[in-house]
Amino acid sequence: MTQEQPKITPPVPQPESDFYWEKCKDGELWLRSCDDCNKTYFYPRDLCPLCFSRNTRWIQTDGKGIVHTFAIVHRGPTPVFRDKCPYVTAVVEFPGGARMPTNLVEVEPDPTAIKCGMPVEVIFEKLDENISLPMFRPSK
Ligand SMILES: [Zn+2]
Repeated sequence: MTQEQPKITPPVPQPESDFYWEKCKDGELWLRSCDDCNKTYFYPRDLCPLCFSRNTRWIQTDGKGIVHTFAIVHRGPTPVFRDKCPYVTAVVEFPGGARMPTNLVEVEPDPTAIKCGMPVEVIFEKLDENISLPMFRPSK
């Protein structure tokens, strides 16, 4: 008897985030930007969470940001994550201030190898035909 490997449950796109996920599938990272307070924000929604303006729009990023904070996970919360340990969770910050919870990849899960403020760039991990998850690696 073979046991099927557990899989990550993919996010379920909502109407406000359909555009975001479509662009991720194309290998592009887009954020929302507010024309009243001139800040970017994440997760995608029409209402600016900083000044409550609806004067917002999509902007395409170059996929580059910096590590705002990170943690190295040695004990995963569920079987699918236990099999990935150790792995690195992080919050990546973009120009304009948007911060995205994500994973750092292609880096040693060692606190001496990762620094807050370190430049990172996006890569996409295809989970299924609908979802490509943005993750970040050190900038080349
Ligand atoms: Zn705003």
